[in-house]
Amino acid sequence: MTEPGSAFRLFTGKVRRFFAVHFRKKYVEGQLKARQGDCSQCAVCCSLAFSCPLLTKDRLCAVYGTFRPLACRAFPIDEKDIEEVRACGGECGYRFIPDPDAHGRS
Ligand code: SF4
Repeated sequence: MTEPGSAFRLFTGKVRRFFAVHFRKKYVEGQLKARQGDCSQCAVCCSLAFSCPLLTKDRLCAVYGTFRPLACRAFPIDEKDIEEVRACGGECGYRFIPDPDAHGRS
């Protein structure tokens, strides 16, 4: 169940991730290095804003091993994505550990 008023936020999250994987590749690379945990295959991220048409009845990705979109491969990119999963009642298996060497860097 999504929080009231979150549909717009979830939609903009999709746009943000699309933009990030195509135009902020360094940022995404850094974030994925800081990411820990595992995917529990809950498929909540496959239904943010709308249910992905490539999701099977068993809630599995029909194109997982072939041409899964970059934004899906990289999910979650940052804490905002984890918050979106939470807003939909899920709990992503990933988390982000801040890079201690990044202190003071802009
Ligand atoms: S929300 Fe997180 S744990 Fe669930 S399927 Fe997506 S990446 Fe995996």
